[in-house]
Amino acid sequence: MPGFEIFGEEEKRQVQDVLETGVLFRYGFDKARKGHWKALSFEKELAKKIGVTHAHLCSSGTAALSTALAACGVGAGDEVIVPPFTFIATIESIVMAGAIPVFAEIDDSLCLDPSSIESKITEKTKAVIPVHMCGAMAKIDSIVDLCKKHGLILIEDACQALGATFNNKPIGSFGDAACFSFDAVKIVTCGEGGGIVTNNEKIYTNAFMFADHGHDHIGNDRGLENHPILGLNFRICELNAAVGLAQLAKLDRMIGIQRKTKKILSETLLSCAGVTLQNIPDPAGDSATFISFILPDEDRARDISKKLAQEGVDGCFYWFDNNWHYIRQWNHFKNLSSTARLPVSLDGYNDFSFIKTPVSDSIMSRTISMQIKLSWSDEEIKERCNRIRKNFK
Ligand SMILES: *Cc1c(COP(=O)(O)O)cnc(C)c1O
Repeated sequence: MPGFEIFGEEEKRQVQDVLETGVLFRYGFDKARKGHWKALSFEKELAKKIGVTHAHLCSSGTAALSTALAACGVGAGDEVIVPPFTFIATIESIVMAGAIPVFAEIDDSLCLDPSSIESKITEKTKAVIPVHMCGAMAKIDSIVDLCKKHGLILIEDACQALGATFNNKPIGSFGDAACFSFDAVKIVTCGEGGGIVTNNEKIYTNAFMFADHGHDHIGNDRGLENHPILGLNFRICELNAAVGLAQLAKLDRMIGIQRKTKKILSETLLSCAGVTLQNIPDPAGDSATFISFILPDEDRARDISKKLAQEGVDGCFYWFDNNWHYIRQWNHFKNLSSTARLPVSLDGYNDFSFIKTPVSDSIMSRTISMQIKLSWSDEEIKERCNRIRKNFK
């Protein structure tokens, strides 16, 4: 990761197709577009890749999450169970839907611990959103079983896990719906973009209407189209979709490179005292965008994190201190009443500072992740391994 490292002729050619027609809108203009339907083609390829019947592109992964919640009928007053380790967008989309995020714990997979979900279920619980973090996957089979048992909607936040599989089944094909991000730093990028995938016809129809002001897209006169529901504009532009189409064709190659690099880094890290690696439920299905490792205690993790930075081992994340990915520093969320007034009311909730996730704290305070770059030469990987070993001495 990220896909921008291997931009080439393919992306240029796809964008050129669009520029030559001048049709940037994904709908209509049938004659002028000369047969180029980039968003539509990307959706077909994405659905094929994930092995689902439907995909709908959005303007971002965040927009895809909002669209998925709306399409699944999750809204005001509903509780949604989530992990405390995710990009804040997962939480934003829930809050902006008027729903209430309820935090379960993560385990050493760095994803939602299935065994911590059940105690969080109340009569208001409507959905569970596990997040497949850092290119790997949650224990999705157990989460599917739990959701079935309790009649809960399952939406996978697969924004970081495009191309990952669990028992040979693509991540994103387990839930009622799943969301992907194609933002500037994701493995497949379109600059800004996202997508929702599903096997459910009704969820798909809701999603494509919601993401375009509720239009039903029946007939070709937009002014006379029906709009059965209210929606928003979460449309992707043909230029962005064109880039994503070229990038998606490179996904398998990108994952191949990352897995090779990760194997070398894994061997190095495992040879260092006290290091354990993120527990990956199905290692063969890891998309290998990151290598995450866990240290015996917080002090050691802080020390190693500092040393890696000093040694120029770049692309390392100590999430526990990070403002975006772990709940500990989400003060703007924890004290909603102190931030700008929300457009929605959360059933009286405006203070989430009571939330405690001690098990997750213990794991995240000891975890460091390293981004795996596509552009590293064999020499650079070797040098990186040498520096890692030196830091652990
Ligand atoms: C990137 C990301 C998102 C949001 O995607 P954008 O396209 O940046 O809006 C949501 N969830 C996770 C886990 C992400 O990593």
